[in-house]
Amino acid sequence: MRRKLVVGNWKMNGNLAQNQRLLEALVHGLKGVGHVDIAVCVPYPYLFQAQHILTGTNIAWGAQNVASHENGAYTGEVSAAMLKEFGASYVIVGHSERSDAYCESSANIADKFAIAKQHGITPIFCVGETLQERESGVMEYAIANQLDAILSVSGGALLDRAVIAYEPVWAIGTNKNATSEQARAAHSFIRERIAAMHPGAAESARIIYGGSVNPRNAAQLLSMSDIDGGLIGRCSLDANDFERICRAACKI
Ligand code: PEP
Repeated sequence: MRRKLVVGNWKMNGNLAQNQRLLEALVHGLKGVGHVDIAVCVPYPYLFQAQHILTGTNIAWGAQNVASHENGAYTGEVSAAMLKEFGASYVIVGHSERSDAYCESSANIADKFAIAKQHGITPIFCVGETLQERESGVMEYAIANQLDAILSVSGGALLDRAVIAYEPVWAIGTNKNATSEQARAAHSFIRERIAAMHPGAAESARIIYGGSVNPRNAAQLLSMSDIDGGLIGRCSLDANDFERICRAACKI
């Protein structure tokens, strides 16, 4: 049975004082909460702070992006080896806020996925359709295209124990979450797609849902079969909200 995973995506928020309050509140509030893996993905400059406060707790930490190269003349980029030095266990790749704004190609995202895996960091690979794609009936085609780029570059071995985040673009930051049935259907499509190409990886991969998850809708969403957890944006910035979402996941 796959263990639930709840990941906070802080995006470009926080400062040293706020982070300290948030992280300390999470350490205190989530102490002893089991049966769920918990992580926060913080902005790069705060990785050291997260490592300092979270080491030895039940909360892991990670980053929101990684370079697709090992090292070299890539101004402004941060490598997987650097993330590893600060204890990162996870890294988000292909979040729609990045792929849109910074024109990340599927091949580039696949390279980031592979390099994170090679360094022992679990990539959280985001896929999801736009509202237009959903409304025009090409949602599965859009998601399949995103997945296939990874599946063809990474191969089955790299997908083993991978984390895929299904994040419908129309649900991110909008307060319009996918219904639990919409999310379940997308998750089972993703699992079937992985199974068709790499049967072994389909069972071990965790498919988590992201898009306007909050303490009120978390229990229903996270209780669906095939939904293995959540990627939480805004509500991960509030210790009480994030704690309630993690607790909802661990009751299921
Ligand atoms: C996200 O950015 O990954 C996200 C799911 O954001 P929110 O929870 O705020 O919709």
